[in-house]
Amino acid sequence: LLLAYDPAKRLARLNVNLGNSLVGVRLMYDLLDRPIVLGDKAGAHDLPKGPGEVSLKDVRFQYGEAPALNGVSFTARAGNVTALVGPSGAGKSTIFSLLERFYDVASGRIEIDGNDIRDLTLASLRGNLALVSQDTFLFDLSVRENIALGRPGASDAEIVEAARAANAHDFIMAMPEGYETSVGEGGNRLSGGQRQRIAIARAMLKDARILLLDEATSALDSESEAKIQTALERLMQGRTTLVIAHRLSTVRDANRILVFDKGMLVEEGSHHELFARDGLYRRLCDLQFREPDAAA
Ligand code: ADP
Ligand code: MG
Repeated sequence: LLLAYDPAKRLARLNVNLGNSLVGVRLMYDLLDRPIVLGDKAGAHDLPKGPGEVSLKDVRFQYGEAPALNGVSFTARAGNVTALVGPSGAGKSTIFSLLERFYDVASGRIEIDGNDIRDLTLASLRGNLALVSQDTFLFDLSVRENIALGRPGASDAEIVEAARAANAHDFIMAMPEGYETSVGEGGNRLSGGQRQRIAIARAMLKDARILLLDEATSALDSESEAKIQTALERLMQGRTTLVIAHRLSTVRDANRILVFDKGMLVEEGSHHELFARDGLYRRLCDLQFREPDAAA
């Protein structure tokens, strides 16, 4: 299943009309950033309104020879924060990729509110998911356009509201051309913390029911850390959050922690339960989870 990385070919094959440039940019984003574009199956339907509970049922998946996920089952309860932890290569990011249907499960199923995600239209599925990660892609466009990717057609007032909620408005206004300032290639005119806040603003605007959060591993200055934390807390309000967690404070605050190793769910519980167990989670706490600068 290792496909050649050739976005141009994929674009050509899709043969779509990129009439609206923002929609075009969003499509490019999906194509460039992602391995596979699956289509809607016949009779695919939109996700009905519901609480946004996510369930994996005996999910198996492999990219090549070795299984990346080997019979994973869990439920992320609606409105809760579910933390995914585990060593590198355990399969955490693969769960996000399967949820977004960049790949389909080899066996088992993934459901949102009881709907097999393969029965949903891709537009509806992805419209109900917002991904925020440290490498959320920014285009060489204005700040305003980058945030608007969350919901093409959003008004300027809505964009500013999202930026305020993301603690991004002040730094945006301090830039030479405010919201019209170009972020540069890949957002290179912004700091890491600023890029993350643009990504959070984009997700705020999207207002999806389910949030997929891949926490940053790289340390930021403590002011950025604090601003990002409060922005993320706002973003998580009222949504189902699955977070690939790298910070101790995140796992401590999560409603439930799922510990993965070698494609399997090996431990599950609260921080206190798992910490007392003296298993993999306890070892991860000792070795891996970082805390933001103590000065923060
Ligand atoms: P984690 O996010 O927990 O670090 P991943 O889900 O990224 O783990 O990876 C799970 C397994 O799948 C690893 O063995 C990894 O090498 C493999 N893998 C991940 N992405 C790909 C890919 N695009 N092609 C081939 N193998 C991959
Ligand atoms: Mg990963």
